[in-house]
Amino acid sequence: MFELRKEDYMKYLYEVAVRIHEKEEYITELDAETGDGDHWLNLDTGFQKLTEKLEEWTACSYAEFYRNIGMTMMSAMGGSSGVLYGSAYLKTSKLLEGKDVITPELLGDILEGWASAIAHRGNTKPGFKTMLDAIYPASKRYGQAIEAGKDCKTCLGELKRGAQEGAENTKNMEAVRGRASYREDKSVGHLDPGAVTMAIQLECLAEFIIE
Ligand code: ADP
Ligand code: MG
Ligand code: MG
Repeated sequence: MFELRKEDYMKYLYEVAVRIHEKEEYITELDAETGDGDHWLNLDTGFQKLTEKLEEWTACSYAEFYRNIGMTMMSAMGGSSGVLYGSAYLKTSKLLEGKDVITPELLGDILEGWASAIAHRGNTKPGFKTMLDAIYPASKRYGQAIEAGKDCKTCLGELKRGAQEGAENTKNMEAVRGRASYREDKSVGHLDPGAVTMAIQLECLAEFIIE
């Protein structure tokens, strides 16, 4: 059993910002191979902006906090990522209405909400070689583990492995959405940068909660 309070979520966001910041070369290269090369810059700008703003949000409710994250991602992150992450946080802010903590079950609903917001906003499906290919299997495997009554560590392990394996699987996919689909080879043989950075965030979340 775990409880993720707003203060904890803030620490998690700091940790993600650090992990993304460290991977400039790797993430830029992935997007240069399949897209326009700005994916790291978009994410880093968004997460740096978030870390600057966190202090202003200490007094607001969890739902308001999630809305603020979503709005900041929309405006500061830019690119497809900004819109998609913005939609994910804005949509799931509703699940936090009246809540002070994220429980294991609520986390399952949030992850599912992220996946469905991204699928809807991006008009995309699993297998189209996008960030959805990391969040979707992660959310599904976590949800199944929760449903089966597994202990939290096992559930979070499923979340992490679902995200990692999902991102790895994008390598062999043909891109149907995003810039990777504009290329003649549909970017087959390359990882999708958005799936990789989604996996970095979900891995970080699972590890943060386990510790
Ligand atoms: P841009 O493509 O506008 O330069 P980014 O480089 O920040 O934006 O993000 C690229 C990532 O966004 C892709 O690797 C992919 O994971 C994701 N993406 C792009 N289009 C879509 C879409 N329609 N649905 C879901 N994810 C998408
Ligand atoms: Mg790009
Ligand atoms: Mg771009």
